[in-house]
Amino acid sequence: MRILISACLLGCRCRYDGASKPHPLAGVLARHHTLIPVCPEQLGGLSTPRPPAERRGDRVVTREGQDVTEQYRRGAEEALRLCHLMGCEAAILKERSPSCGCGSIYDGTFSGRMHPGDGVTAELLARCGIPVYGETKLEKFLK
Ligand code: SF4
Repeated sequence: MRILISACLLGCRCRYDGASKPHPLAGVLARHHTLIPVCPEQLGGLSTPRPPAERRGDRVVTREGQDVTEQYRRGAEEALRLCHLMGCEAAILKERSPSCGCGSIYDGTFSGRMHPGDGVTAELLARCGIPVYGETKLEKFLK
């Protein structure tokens, strides 16, 4: 199966702080499936490192109050385009991210609190019929 995956889960240092979040089973997953890595925030034109941002309703803002909604939307559209182009049947995305998070994201107060919701990319992919999973569900693809 072809799977769209958050690039930071494969060890790419594309996070806002210039770090990565490699998943310990990413290598095993890559032997079973064809993985298509994307970082929607970079695809949307944001630099690395970049200021942390969180969703506030339909907007995405940095801790300093800059509105970066447009970059997040552009990154989501690029991720969706690549998903379709490469024939991906599912997406495994980094949890809690304002782009990639699914089901639960930071609440927009930069206080570390979570609330129900999806990142901008996860939301668009799901709306377009792509099954989206957080990395804690990755084992499901190894069975
Ligand atoms: Fe990882 Fe997604 Fe954030 Fe890029 S946008 S660093 S892929 S969680």
